Amino acid sequence: MDILVIEDDLLDFEILKRAFSKSSMQFRLVKASTSEEAFTLFKKDAFDIILLDFYLPDQTGLEFITTFKHEFGEDEVAIVVLSHEANPDVAIQCVEAGAEDYLTKTEITPARLKQAIYHSQARLKLRKQLIDSFSQVKYLAERDSLTGLANRRHFEQTLRDELSLNGHAHTHLAVAIVDLDHFKHINDSHGHDVGDQLLIQVAMHISKLISDNLLIARIGGDEFGILLKCNEHQQSIDLELKSLLNDINRVKVNGIEFITSVSIGVAVVPFGNAKSEDVLKCADIAMFKAKNSGRNRLCYFEDEMQAYFDKRYAIEIALHSALDNNEFDIYFQPVFNVKKDVVGVEALIRWIKEGEFIPPDEFIPIAEESTIINDIGYWVLHAAMDKFKQLINETNNDELVLSINISPVQLTDQQLAGHIVQELIKHDLRPKHIELEITETALMVNTEESLDTLEQLSDIGFSIALDDFGTGFSSISHLIDFPINTVKIDKSIMLSSQSERQNKLIHGLAFMIHSLDMDIVAEGVDNPETVSLCDLLNIERLQGFYLSKPQPLSVLKQTFFS
Ligand code: C2E
Ligand code: CA
Ligand code: CA
Repeated sequence: MDILVIEDDLLDFEILKRAFSKSSMQFRLVKASTSEEAFTLFKKDAFDIILLDFYLPDQTGLEFITTFKHEFGEDEVAIVVLSHEANPDVAIQCVEAGAEDYLTKTEITPARLKQAIYHSQARLKLRKQLIDSFSQVKYLAERDSLTGLANRRHFEQTLRDELSLNGHAHTHLAVAIVDLDHFKHINDSHGHDVGDQLLIQVAMHISKLISDNLLIARIGGDEFGILLKCNEHQQSIDLELKSLLNDINRVKVNGIEFITSVSIGVAVVPFGNAKSEDVLKCADIAMFKAKNSGRNRLCYFEDEMQAYFDKRYAIEIALHSALDNNEFDIYFQPVFNVKKDVVGVEALIRWIKEGEFIPPDEFIPIAEESTIINDIGYWVLHAAMDKFKQLINETNNDELVLSINISPVQLTDQQLAGHIVQELIKHDLRPKHIELEITETALMVNTEESLDTLEQLSDIGFSIALDDFGTGFSSISHLIDFPINTVKIDKSIMLSSQSERQNKLIHGLAFMIHSLDMDIVAEGVDNPETVSLCDLLNIERLQGFYLSKPQPLSVLKQTFFS
């Protein structure tokens, strides 16, 4: 056994030597008088154990242990501290600093020495195993098992650590979120194995292209995070990140080339005070912006985005309690024939949140992203029929028609038709009283559920109107293939009816729709000329600010039925 004894007292060394020679151990003793000498010897030679005098000329034993472990590692060699001092606190401090054992010099006997050495070596072995399994667990806990990159937890931790550091030469930290476009589609159509291989390939491309990074991680199913040092001006990282856009356009899996793309969102923040969650949120917002602007691009976070998303988020939260707080109301916009008689009303939802009017165009799309639209839709059906029943009772006009807007999401609800019928019975109304307005998007999603609902509704006898025709897709085959009774020509077309071209378009549309035996509602009628045009084209119904804005029921009754 090779033993390094660090001891400046010659007498103490002699006592030790004698104890060894009386023990049954095979040993080689090498002596160092100072810690500096011990370091030099240790670097040159291999030792099984160090016996360390607590008081050295240049350091205390505690200091030696700390600097030694720092330089050579935790589990390099066992250290036994020897001291004249029988203070248990000092002994505990030494063990806590990393010594395996502590002996007072008066207790040194051959047997005690042998025992201390063997125990220390056994302890060191145990410690080694612990350190090994700890680093293995740490590795596993920080890694993504599929790609071998860091995982989200490690990414967030590193981001927190980096943000609190000072970047030295670089003043800023860039956080990029790289999201694969349409990955779900590849997964669904080619299977998860191919999906997994694709993710591995993408991980490799990112690691290869962004070599000068602080960390690359897989932070979600098809989402990667990159931490980069940079300066305030984005140019320093812009080229590198943009190279990803080109490189990931074609990725090969099992010899098959996939046309892929990524959307990248980047937030650049100064080192120092920023909070990691905020920075991640900003990069996320920029990534969504990249997706919304058509994917396959890189977007940097800007302040206006924050304002937009904050507002959206506030609406989303407020929507949850709007129904319970009775914040919704129904207005009716009257629908006229060309003789300007009211023939029906369109129910339009109104939301006043703490005194502020929020237009439906702002909150309906947000409600449609969750199931809230179904609850709102049910509320509208009930509230609109309630008011409409009052209207026909009080006006004695059973020929009026109530138009209700149905969102594409509601059409996928298989309870919808049954629910509408229940409301109808509850309000003693008949199918001829109701027209349901759907948009072309509902037809394009074309799920079996929505088609099914649409057919059920049509079979019951409700009139189905296709809303906003002339914007977006405007497909004639939609008019032919689905049970549509009425087409509403969008206000954007009617509002510009003054122009020659637009006028021709309206002529053509009216002719086409009439030849398919469908009724027309012209929306956005906002001047007398448009009324004349509708008359000329035999357009059945008219709606628009020139004739009437949407009104509360009481105002409507006063204006048109008193
Ligand atoms: P929409 O179904 O096309 O409704 C007509 C919209 O055009 C209404 O806006 C109405 O105020 C407006 N409008 C009517 N005449 C004119 C005009 O002459 N000029 C102009 N510039 N605008 C006119 P509103 O009430 O803000 O509703 C916007 C959209 O919100 C609706 O468009 C509809 O898509 C949706 N929406 C409203 N209420 C509901 C509802 O209860 N359920 C669902 N799912 N969507 C609704
Ligand atoms: Ca409508
Ligand atoms: Ca419309």
